[in-house]
Amino acid sequence: VSAAAGVGKQVLLVEDDAISLRLMRDVLEAQGYRTEQTTNGLDAFSAAQRLRPDLIVLDIGLPGMDGVEVTRKLKAEPQLSHIPVLAVSAYAMPADEERLLKAGGAAYLTKPLSFVEFVRVVNSLLGPID
Ligand code: CA
Repeated sequence: VSAAAGVGKQVLLVEDDAISLRLMRDVLEAQGYRTEQTTNGLDAFSAAQRLRPDLIVLDIGLPGMDGVEVTRKLKAEPQLSHIPVLAVSAYAMPADEERLLKAGGAAYLTKPLSFVEFVRVVNSLLGPID
C-alpha cells in the first residue's frame, strides 16, 4: 500500500456550508492532507496569510466577500499569489467559472461534488504523486 497522496500538504477550506465543509475535510484527511477551515471570505484572506497553505479550496458563494473577490485579493498579494485556488460552486453558472479563472483561480468544480473528481483535482494541483 502506497502512502496517502496528501501527506505533508496543508489545504485551507473556505466554505460556509457545514455539511460540505465536513465532507471535504473528511475526504482530504483520508488522503493524508492536513486541513484548516474558515467559513467566510474575509477570514479566508487572513487565514491564508497566517497559514500559507499549499492549496486553497474556496466556495464561490460566501457571505461577506464572495470566492471570486477572495481569489482576486489572494492573487494581488505577492506572498500568496502562488497558492493554487480550487473553487467550488453550487450554481451551474458558466459565468462563475469564467470569472474565477479570470481572477486567477486554478480550477473549478460544481457542487454537489464528485469526491473522486475532487480528490483527483486536488492531487493534480499539488503536483505529481509518487
Ligand atoms: Ca456557500
